[in-house]
Amino acid sequence: MTYDSIIAGAGFAGAVTARVLAEAGRRVLVLEQRPHVGGNAFDCLDESGILIHQYGPHIFHTNDKTVFDFLSRFTVWRTYEHEVVANLPAENGRMELPVPFNLASLRLAFGPERSAQLQEKLISAYGAGTKVTILQLREATDPALSDLAQYVYDHIFVRYTMKQWGQTPEEIDPAVTARVPVFLSEDCRYFQDTYQGMPLHGYTALFENMLRHDNVDLRLNTDAREHLRFENGTILLDGAEFTGDVIYSGPADELFGCCFGRLPYRTLDFKFETFPADVVQSHGTVNYTMDEDYTRITEFKHLTGQVRPGVTTTVKEYSRAYTGADGEIPYYAIANADTAALYAKYAEKAAQFPRLHLLGRLAEYRYYNMDAIVAGALALSRKLIGESAC
Ligand SMILES: Cc1cc2nc3c(=O)[nH]c(=O)nc-3n(C[C@H](O)[C@H](O)[C@H](O)COP(=O)(O)OP(=O)(O)OC[C@H]3O[C@@H](n4cnc5c(N)ncnc54)[C@H](O)[C@@H]3O)c2cc1C
Repeated sequence: MTYDSIIAGAGFAGAVTARVLAEAGRRVLVLEQRPHVGGNAFDCLDESGILIHQYGPHIFHTNDKTVFDFLSRFTVWRTYEHEVVANLPAENGRMELPVPFNLASLRLAFGPERSAQLQEKLISAYGAGTKVTILQLREATDPALSDLAQYVYDHIFVRYTMKQWGQTPEEIDPAVTARVPVFLSEDCRYFQDTYQGMPLHGYTALFENMLRHDNVDLRLNTDAREHLRFENGTILLDGAEFTGDVIYSGPADELFGCCFGRLPYRTLDFKFETFPADVVQSHGTVNYTMDEDYTRITEFKHLTGQVRPGVTTTVKEYSRAYTGADGEIPYYAIANADTAALYAKYAEKAAQFPRLHLLGRLAEYRYYNMDAIVAGALALSRKLIGESAC
């Protein structure tokens, strides 16, 4: 088969693009270096038969109906509204506070009397149902409210962020700190989006359905860089000039041999543990915001709704700097002025090839939620086939 388009990567960026181009009649070659589709959303059964997310827990949520409708062609959904608690030391052992910090957290942290006073002050100052940032609370003239801001900063935010990003408190971007919310509501859901859920048969099945099309040729265990070369404005596929579109969703720096230096990332080590119990923790995800060297523990059965008595699997996440060593996966781009300037050099190099399109969290060096990259992939692929995105 000869191809009109080549796609590197079978995560959301690559798979959505492949599907739209294929439905428009393009013949598409998808090259994926891993032995499976799905990118970081890949899920599979572990040895005890529990459905796990190999690259960290993924919960789908969006307000974008176009994205939800598109994905719904490839999966039915299990309704699931994620809840997260912060687990931290307390006077009599440990306590769990809903995150984002809300009115229920306030009661648990301060007891009925003091929390009632604080709640009254908060609601009369900002209104019920609002999300107030800790910057706003810090600026309040009432010392009780600025003390509350300090409590949330100390107990929920600062150590967790230090673990996640390997930073000292001084290094944490004040703009990020300022945005930490206190939710003046009893709503304990982590997301408030209109559409929330999990693919009923898992993400991998969703991806397999999306990529199953006569015009899509999928090659797993194939690094696109071994087949594509970029020379003097020309793209070569296995040595021959390729004049179609190339959508690349791998790391932008690696595409060009890291010629300007490596883009820095945070990586994660995952520790999966299986227990002989129905469930072992109270919520889908428990954040460790004051102590422990891992950031959070997720128990998959909460997310997937899998019924399997007497056995359950959790994953602990440990964050550290990405070094580029074999087997390490770059997870989170590090957003600052230096990395933006470095990325711009790679983007400029890519722009010398008009049919090369960088798409996705690695190629664009930015964090995307799943719905946002699906929206980005729909927009790019519809542009390539000359269809209006709306
Ligand atoms: C721990 C963690 C938890 C997350 N949880 C959520 C969540 O709950 N909800 C949410 O909405 N989002 C979540 N996300 C974000 C989500 O993972 C991303 O939105 C999504 O992965 C982006 O898709 P992508 O296609 O850009 O990248 P990826 O999923 O990384 O896919 C890129 C693919 O390209 C392949 N590739 C790379 N280089 C090459 C090459 N040279 N040749 C061939 N193939 C190549 C990779 O192997 C990979 O399969 C989470 C992210 C992390 C890290």
